[in-house]
Amino acid sequence: MTQRSPQSRPAAQPRPTDAYTALVNTELGRRIGRALGLPRPAPLRRHTPGAALADGPVLVLGETSVAEDIAQLLLRWGLDVRRHIGGEERLSGVVACFDAVSAPGDLQETVLRLAGVQRQIAPSGRVITVLRDPQEARDPSVRAARRAVEGLTRSLGREMRAGATANGVVLQESLDAAAPGVAGVLRFLLSGRSAFVSGQFLSVDSVNGTLPEDWDRPLAGQVAVVTGAARGIGAAIARTLRRDGAQVIAVDVPAAGEALASVANEVGGTALQLDITAEDAGDRILEHAEQRHGRLDVVIHNAGITRDKLLAHMDASRWSSVIAVNLEAQLRINRRLLASELFSHAPRIVSLASTSGIAGNRGQTNYAASKAGVMGMVAASAPELESRHGTINAVAPGFIETEMTAKMPTIAREVARRLNSLSQGGLPEDVAETVAFLASPAAGGTSGMTLRVCGQNLIGA
Ligand code: NAD
Repeated sequence: MTQRSPQSRPAAQPRPTDAYTALVNTELGRRIGRALGLPRPAPLRRHTPGAALADGPVLVLGETSVAEDIAQLLLRWGLDVRRHIGGEERLSGVVACFDAVSAPGDLQETVLRLAGVQRQIAPSGRVITVLRDPQEARDPSVRAARRAVEGLTRSLGREMRAGATANGVVLQESLDAAAPGVAGVLRFLLSGRSAFVSGQFLSVDSVNGTLPEDWDRPLAGQVAVVTGAARGIGAAIARTLRRDGAQVIAVDVPAAGEALASVANEVGGTALQLDITAEDAGDRILEHAEQRHGRLDVVIHNAGITRDKLLAHMDASRWSSVIAVNLEAQLRINRRLLASELFSHAPRIVSLASTSGIAGNRGQTNYAASKAGVMGMVAASAPELESRHGTINAVAPGFIETEMTAKMPTIAREVARRLNSLSQGGLPEDVAETVAFLASPAAGGTSGMTLRVCGQNLIGA
């Protein structure tokens, strides 16, 4: 079957993240880089409102009903969908459906079809595997086959070139591809919004969630709080949520008041000067949201601090301040907000974790403890949020180009930046795009999980 419904809008143009990436992508830089055997990170295709989701064919592999439903879904989005491919055409994406595997031998046919087209995947192209949740399989053979798809996907992520990525969609047993969360996750992974996400899995666990009328404004009419919004990733989140249609309440400490006011003005939102560790922080947020906006839909716990020291030199102040800001404040604020009527209609919470919380990091026992704690908090809070048709998730950034990482010693920074499958650091907007997706109604089927935005960092799971 070849079904075509080409889009008229062009896809977004790739943009380099740093000077080295820009340099090695010039003609001269490419020649020098090749001669010296240097890595050549590719400029990544990032989301631009109005741009096409993909500008070439998307191949859907697999003979299951899930594969057929996904092919139909992509067609409805105006994509050029193929179920088979003969020639040497460049592919924008491949969706490989492994949802029916029940023994390791079941993988081979689709794997070999994928292998046959891997070289045809375009720069910044996408491979998305679809599998059933391994945890739900009691039979050793079934679970082995499902876990095998995870290993395949992660390794493929490491083999992708030119800014292309590989990620997986994990479907809970009873769900079919008609669940809104499946469309939400597939669209995120196909789009430039997931530019710095590779080797990761997004689970869809329920039929919750709704698809937006306008995919470029999925948060239209919603009110979102962003903590730590005065600069860095928080400011990028505020801008992205605004672009996606939300009204933003920008929160930061009084000492950052000027920068906070400037971000709040820029996004046409309101500023709330608040230390999130204050006992009454939850009350202050509710009061502000009620009085200034009349509603509250989304809370992004982004504010965070580091106070790095080896454990042997750790003191009470360094330990307790990091735990207080990065973890205890979130727990306290969530408790207060979830007890309120204002935040009870499909509420969304997204917390900033870190890959340090997954892999550990020398000198960061306090920070890694706080960030691993955040992951525990979101997993344990998911049932309570679900009872209100809401979700809670965490985002774990890897190396992101911020003021903080700009201050690292040059060589350490250069090494950290290249130690991932995309050979480059992410931008604050990459984290913001993932946060905005998880905050959106289309992500309603995904809760309790931590999604890494790290270019598939070599460190950690
Ligand atoms: P940043 O230091 O640039 O900004 C953090 C903001 O939080 C600041 O504006 C600060 O004033 C605010 N803040 C701190 N304590 C506060 C408090 N008690 N109350 C209210 N606001 C407070 O940090 P960033 O690099 O933009 O990081 C944002 C989040 O992402 C943090 O949670 C951080 O741990 C996480 N993260 C960052 C990276 C990275 O590479 N930059 C990597 C992994 C995780």
